[in-house]
Amino acid sequence: MIPCPAASLPLAQSRLHLSLSCLTVSTYMDERSIFTPMNLLQTLHDEMHACCRCLEAGYAIVPGAVFSGKQVAERRVMLIGQAPGVTEAEVKRPFNAGSGRRLFQWLGEAGWQEDAFRARQYMTAVTKCYPGKGQNGKGDRVPSKAEQALCRPFLEREIALVHPRLMILVGGLAIKLFFPARAKLQDVVGTAVYFPPAALTNPVNFDLSTGDWMRHNLPSSLSALSPDGRLVVPLPHPSGASLWPNKPANQALIGRAIQLLHHIRVAWHLT
Ligand code: SF4
Repeated sequence: MIPCPAASLPLAQSRLHLSLSCLTVSTYMDERSIFTPMNLLQTLHDEMHACCRCLEAGYAIVPGAVFSGKQVAERRVMLIGQAPGVTEAEVKRPFNAGSGRRLFQWLGEAGWQEDAFRARQYMTAVTKCYPGKGQNGKGDRVPSKAEQALCRPFLEREIALVHPRLMILVGGLAIKLFFPARAKLQDVVGTAVYFPPAALTNPVNFDLSTGDWMRHNLPSSLSALSPDGRLVVPLPHPSGASLWPNKPANQALIGRAIQLLHHIRVAWHLT
């Protein structure tokens, strides 16, 4: 078993517990001792870096959470992928390799340059450690439901602290956080869900029924939306191992999603 690096971290970093729905702090012994969002985010990141829950539960992950985004104030977009790949785990950079090239091509068409997006926005994943190779040795293992559940509290705390206005879901695992498990990619790519401000009194809201699943006339309806709400936009996984994005009908859906992201970026000043 790979040794858990958590053992070498200061004890104080493991003593912060947030109530996810209301962000109350039950215990706080960290020497930083200031309840600013930045400090809370830093504490969360320390915990994520040190976490070995999946390893301790018997899953052959490589511990060392991969995410990016060290500030809160300017983070208005949160991009959620499936899990880091091996190169992402090596350099600790989300979407670092081939998948990243295709993803940032899409985001570039929506108006975000890669360097600026990486610098200003928040990138994370459903599970944050490299899950290892799949059984056939081709491609990476899809994290199990148990691993997703183990990592879910981290994702919920990230959402509560970053409070993104736009969430971009990349790939099936992230999409299923919001959309019905039976929904196919072709049902959701090119659509969006809008959560009005009232739905975000709980900042961690995955309940699609409290949002408006918009499937038609998206750009024209954007101007009517309060920018204090949240939009959720799905994209397929950009991995070269997936053939889905190559089919012409699906490329049209991806084009629609990119157009939608472009309109949101402009309308809500998400630079
Ligand atoms: S995937 Fe998440 S829960 Fe599992 S060890 Fe990594 S950080 Fe911890």
